[in-house]
Amino acid sequence: MAGDTSAQLDLADRQALPRVATHCPYCALQCGMLLERDGGGWRVAARDFPTNKGGLCRKGWTAAALLSAPDRLTTPLLRERHGMHLRPASWDEALDRIVAGIRQIQARHGKNAIGVFGGGGLTNEKAYLLGKFARVALGTANIDYNGRFCMASAAAAGLAAFGLDRGLPFPLADIPGAEVILMPGGNPAETMPPIMQYFEAQKARGGKLIVADPRRTPTARAADLHLQLTPGTHAALANGLLHVAIRDRLIDTVFIATRTTGFSAVQHICKSYWPERVERITGVPEAQIVRAARMLGEAATAMVLTARGAEQQRNGTQNVLAYINLLLALGRAGKPHCGYGCLTGQGNGQGGREHGQKSDQLPGYRKLENPADRDHVAGVWGVAADSLPNPGLTACELMSALGGPVRGLLVFASNLLVSAPDADSVAGGFGGLDLLVVADMFLSETAARADVVLPIAQWAEEDGTMTNLEGRVLRRRRAMAPPKGVWTDLEVMNALASRLGSTAAFATEPDDAFGELRRASAGGAADYAGITYDRIDAEDGVFWPCPAGDHPGTKRLFLDRFATPDGRARFHRVEFHGAAETPDATFPYILTTGRVLSHYQTGVQTRRVPELAAAEPGGFVELHADTARGLGIAAGDLVRLTTRRGTIDLPARISREIRMDTLFVPFHWGGRARANLLTNAALDPTSRIPEFKACAVHVKRAAAATSPRPATRQEVT
Ligand code: SF4
Repeated sequence: MAGDTSAQLDLADRQALPRVATHCPYCALQCGMLLERDGGGWRVAARDFPTNKGGLCRKGWTAAALLSAPDRLTTPLLRERHGMHLRPASWDEALDRIVAGIRQIQARHGKNAIGVFGGGGLTNEKAYLLGKFARVALGTANIDYNGRFCMASAAAAGLAAFGLDRGLPFPLADIPGAEVILMPGGNPAETMPPIMQYFEAQKARGGKLIVADPRRTPTARAADLHLQLTPGTHAALANGLLHVAIRDRLIDTVFIATRTTGFSAVQHICKSYWPERVERITGVPEAQIVRAARMLGEAATAMVLTARGAEQQRNGTQNVLAYINLLLALGRAGKPHCGYGCLTGQGNGQGGREHGQKSDQLPGYRKLENPADRDHVAGVWGVAADSLPNPGLTACELMSALGGPVRGLLVFASNLLVSAPDADSVAGGFGGLDLLVVADMFLSETAARADVVLPIAQWAEEDGTMTNLEGRVLRRRRAMAPPKGVWTDLEVMNALASRLGSTAAFATEPDDAFGELRRASAGGAADYAGITYDRIDAEDGVFWPCPAGDHPGTKRLFLDRFATPDGRARFHRVEFHGAAETPDATFPYILTTGRVLSHYQTGVQTRRVPELAAAEPGGFVELHADTARGLGIAAGDLVRLTTRRGTIDLPARISREIRMDTLFVPFHWGGRARANLLTNAALDPTSRIPEFKACAVHVKRAAAATSPRPATRQEVT
């Protein structure tokens, strides 16, 4: 089952180039790096690219280890019906099995009985063709992707307020020019460390950083003001900040009158969010609320940058809109060194949400519900517009439908059994499927449950484009051929489409796919028509929208007008509603989840890098020293966490950096210690993001520490 390591390391066989300028395989900063041959393997070297300026985090520096991971998949795997084991198979056998399964399911249950699940790590070319594959070759409405777990609330809020969603509407280089930055729920010092150079430069120019987070993270420690709020209370905090800004006459009435609509209703709502009340809701002292509002209101330039802490909640869209309300009222949007942005997480979280793998979307941010959009894309695809399905199920709804109306699932670049909330119910859904297909580089937790596993190329083995958190379209370059037996995702889609009898074209070369994507996106909000591989090379990336070859690309959005029909930004009425679950006598604490420095997403890649695995070998629960003392828990003890979904045991990390009512569990590991066995699949009504950041939990000591372990820098024992 494991890969043929000697074949992987045979550079001659794999036509490896001596040195290739590319980008990191992980997060949305998409740091530039050099991949160099190093004896029998490869190494990463620094590259002076405009985003990271030579900086990389430990994940990036060690990424070359992925290319020689000993358990790389190099042959398809098949499970005999209801069998316990996967066995190696030929590509023909695997593809025939998939196509027979799809045909059988669709004949009995209809086209929509097949679901497709994509990922925010797929290149633009793959994300684009996956949407086309689902809607044209399979004819199913049911395609969505794991970005629904990640940036969906920020995207929905940006679209509602500004008429357009792009993670940052300005380049990173603008950050140092902001006098004050408010960062609700972000910890880039651990998730994307090289970005901190921009905040350090801002600080060196006299700028201030305010972080709102239940934990005193490394980012919060670097801030001038840390608002340590209760998980799930961002909307109340934002409304409280706006209350003070209005009360203290810090708002920009000219900007409100000339560039926005809807302020009066928001002003009315915020009257009831006086600071004492907001302190009671959020736990943030009144004096800090007033200080933060004045810091923002008295600054000539200001930004709000949200991240998952504020977004991954059942009110995530409303939380973000409340922060946007604040920024609009202060008149700090649509101007240089001002604006709202989202610190996008996944490597292609931006591009992945633009080109058609979302349940309601067509390429270029076009909408399936819009007849003109359907006509345009159907024309590019050479199919009838009325043959395109309508919008389908979103990610969590798709998980709930597994084994019910959805009988088969094709998964690309996603590890649902670790990433989805209430993971045991997803596993139950898998059990009811007639066909589960997973395309992956490694036997992830999800692939291990599949009926068919397809070994696919990774990162440095294929070309493609990624769109980073700035909206900058980048080239990911092929440094070597994939190992023998491994196909690219594009080849897989082409082969399946052909076997399914589709007459539409499915390009196998990334530049052909990109050419088609450019035509499909032309005239859309995310217009890539003027972007070519050559331009990306020559210009260190091109910012969308870029509608023509002679267009310079758009580094800064909204300076003259917002992307709404009347050019004005929209205020939105936001009331605080809180998390779906709050502590009670049975579940008296709040559980929040997140990331650590050494791992990326569900750890399928980073857990295979020896240096990263050694740095953080497994999950843990962080809890406050006083909370731990009250519960009789010492550092390293096994702690039993129980929510309404499940129970897990994890070793304790004791800290004074977290609220006493809150526990933190990172989500990068599989097995029975998965954080997402506990999390709540309550969905935001707009973005359909699940509530990863807050649920009620019962905590008790399960067992004493079995072996002494060194304290980490976070521990205060
Ligand atoms: Fe840069 Fe993110 Fe890669 Fe770290 S993980 S090197 S921050 S792209």
